Amino acid sequence: MRPTWDEYFMQIVDIVKERSTCLRRKVGALIVKDKRILATGYNGAPTGLPHCEEVGCLREKLNVPSGQRHELCRGLHAEQNAIIQAAKMGVVIDGSVIYTTTYPCVICAKMIVNAGIKKVIYKGSYPDEMSQQIFREAGIEVVKFEENGEGDLK
Ligand SMILES: [Zn+2]
Ligand SMILES: [Zn+2]
Repeated sequence: MRPTWDEYFMQIVDIVKERSTCLRRKVGALIVKDKRILATGYNGAPTGLPHCEEVGCLREKLNVPSGQRHELCRGLHAEQNAIIQAAKMGVVIDGSVIYTTTYPCVICAKMIVNAGIKKVIYKGSYPDEMSQQIFREAGIEVVKFEENGEGDLK
């Protein structure tokens, strides 16, 4: 069976996230425009710095619940890394779509809005009411990817 475009990009982002070094959850992000991949990202420490898996993670040590105190972790989120990669390489992502393996947190949601990303297609849920509200207010389309579902990018 030939994958739909959404299935195709979701399969790729599942491979991207395997590079993650987060102790908690591996997350991948893929920025796409006109069916072309513009940038990829996974969560982990800044380039060249020791990762949480080597030096430990304070969020893990303090048992911080999911979705809270992001600043305690040395890692960047997958969506942030994808946006930064585009900036670093001088790639225009205005008007693009972002595929994520996990629903974006509120920090990433704000960055997605200002990066000009128009649509979020995510797989795993992540309870963050504030990021839902940010997306709603900004008029960003947010779609949950359904396995074997009808991809709407034809
Ligand atoms: Zn960490
Ligand atoms: Zn995030």
